[in-house]
Amino acid sequence: MTTSVPTVKLNDGREIPQLGYGVFKVDPAETKQLVAEALRVGYRHIDTAAIYGNEEGVGQAIAESGIPREELWITTKLWNDRQTDAAAALDESLEKLGLDYVDLYLIHWPTPEKGTYVEAWKQLIELQKSGKARSIGVSNFFPEHLDELESQTPVTPAVNQIELHPYLQQWKDIDAARSHGIMVEAWGPLGQGKSDLLEQPEITEAAEAHGVTPAQVVIRWHLQNGTIVFPKSANPERIAENFDVFDFELSDSEMAGITGLDRGEEGRGGAHPLEFN
Ligand code: NAD
Repeated sequence: MTTSVPTVKLNDGREIPQLGYGVFKVDPAETKQLVAEALRVGYRHIDTAAIYGNEEGVGQAIAESGIPREELWITTKLWNDRQTDAAAALDESLEKLGLDYVDLYLIHWPTPEKGTYVEAWKQLIELQKSGKARSIGVSNFFPEHLDELESQTPVTPAVNQIELHPYLQQWKDIDAARSHGIMVEAWGPLGQGKSDLLEQPEITEAAEAHGVTPAQVVIRWHLQNGTIVFPKSANPERIAENFDVFDFELSDSEMAGITGLDRGEEGRGGAHPLEFN
């Protein structure tokens, strides 16, 4: 089976596969095998980070896959304690990944109290020029942080990766990002398995109507909203299930029902970007 994953065009002209596989909390000892499984199923976009401690496993799976490098999209992220040291941090990530470049390098958190994210962004601009990071972006940035980058540097991030799922929809932030030409990536797209999200009738009824699972419905909701998404699972069956989302479509009323589940700030499951330093 070959599934062609749609791509999203970034403001630097490059195209990112809209669906990928995320490896937050994937055990480093299992990462190689699980990423290999994801690649076998058809994923070509992997989202990791220096802090996940599993870049080596991602790299080993890539090396052994035999898939041409240009067919893969690999994202990693600059951890908070390296914001003034991004060039060396990226070199370390590349070494672990066994790659000459990443497709996307992100500032993981703004950590506003440190006051170094603009400096970090200036370094990422240089890393993009060097070719070691083909696209550059940010994660967990609030509109005010994006405004700061815009006023102080000449390059707009290609993406902002934020916590996003039906309980925390952040439409204002999505609109702010898109108004800057920044594409939105959803982290925790399934609510990180922390809540009863997948039991909500708006989701289970749509799942039943289409003969799919609640997780597939939520992934589809993200895709139809135009966000870039990379659900995580450490279970090979679910890795395959989460990729099998291209032969059904949610109706406008199903989409609206899920959009109605928004809980605003109360739906946040992860750290608050203004408080995480
Ligand atoms: P997620 O929303 O993808 O949830 C993963 C959990 O959902 C699994 O552990 C499992 O409990 C459940 N799940 C997965 N597939 C399922 C299925 N088919 N059926 C039922 N339950 C299922 O959460 P995540 O891993 O935190 O987010 C996805 C990716 O986003 C991460 O792996 C990482 O790459 C990225 N991320 C980035 C940040 C950031 O700060 N930038 C933070 C967290 C995650």
